[in-house]
Amino acid sequence: MTGQGEKRFIPYGRQSLDEDDIAAVVEVLRSDWLTTGPKVHEFEQALAETAGTAEAVVVSNGTAALHAIAYAMGIQPGDEVIVTPITFASSANCVAFLGASPVFADVDPATLCIDPSAVERRITDRTKAIIAVDYAGQPCDYDALQKIADDHGLILIDDGCHAIGGTYKQRPVGSLAKATAFSFHPVKHVATGEGGAVATDDADFAARVRLFRNHGITTDFRQREASGSWFYEMVDLGFNYRLTDIQCALGVSQLKKLPWSIRRRQEIAAVYRQAFSEIEGITPLAVRPDVSHAYHLFVVQVDAERAGIGRPDLFNALRAGGIGVNVHYIPVHLHPFYRNTYGTKPGDCPVAEAAYERIISLPMYPAMTDDDVQYVIAAVRDALVSRG
Ligand SMILES: *Cc1c(COP(=O)(O)O)cnc(C)c1O
Repeated sequence: MTGQGEKRFIPYGRQSLDEDDIAAVVEVLRSDWLTTGPKVHEFEQALAETAGTAEAVVVSNGTAALHAIAYAMGIQPGDEVIVTPITFASSANCVAFLGASPVFADVDPATLCIDPSAVERRITDRTKAIIAVDYAGQPCDYDALQKIADDHGLILIDDGCHAIGGTYKQRPVGSLAKATAFSFHPVKHVATGEGGAVATDDADFAARVRLFRNHGITTDFRQREASGSWFYEMVDLGFNYRLTDIQCALGVSQLKKLPWSIRRRQEIAAVYRQAFSEIEGITPLAVRPDVSHAYHLFVVQVDAERAGIGRPDLFNALRAGGIGVNVHYIPVHLHPFYRNTYGTKPGDCPVAEAAYERIISLPMYPAMTDDDVQYVIAAVRDALVSRG
């Protein structure tokens, strides 16, 4: 198939937008409210339903969601928060924003989700919270994490940016921790350009997130207009982390397609898994039986000896073939900022560091055709053969 000389580019992830999404945005552009309008509440209601929570608060991006959660949880200088190294840096950064210390716990070698026993080993009398990341779309082992949190009086937070629409023991991602962060960046399941949300069952906590989103001001412009008053009070420090009605309208429309997106991603994953079960040295990450995997990413580990090709050469071969493979992620504790600020170093998380040498993310997005999927599989096979 790769021999047919077609020129394609298949990215690792991509948004799916249709005419309904475009019409929803246009409708807002013709309306009175571009921000702090009715679409914000509508998107929040729809998200809370998806997350299985009482409340959802939309914010300007996933990183803002994590920042808001950490702030509203009262994380402060002197606190330690246990985080995972195999992720985008936001979940460690939100701890750093508040002057607290991120402490990296190693991951499970089969799933690359945070390893509950490693979390337990990192707890000190300064530990305040745990931030789990549902890596690639697979929910972490929340029963084990919640037990550790309860035993030690810690707050459990879910960075669910990969996993909206996934479940753990039939419970939706969003309802698995005290608070959950979502991202609506175009590579994620629900795209609003930029966007994020906090899901929680705790109304007081949601109110603190709303305050933080709006400069620490107790009423927003719309509420003041409705009450005919100019009066407002700033009761705390906050940011402008609001999401516009334009983005929320897109979010409402996109969220309706989430079940389709997850189904299609799971279908693609099943085809990949079948194919790679017959290819020596290319092993998809394991999936625990108690989850429904949301497949933000499809990650395989390359065993150079058995595959006859290492991750770097496979990466280059696939990129040369027009396949936008990627590596998720460089372990966060190895970034210069973390080494220089917190003294983290190679050896701190050996499982994560070893996995980082072997992982590669193959294209995974719902608009991939069956033919695209076969093209990727054939390209992997070709890269192995031409090496062997
Ligand atoms: C995308 C992502 C974020 C950050 O979301 P933004 O909307 O890009 O700020 C945080 N955590 C994880 C795991 C992510 O994948």
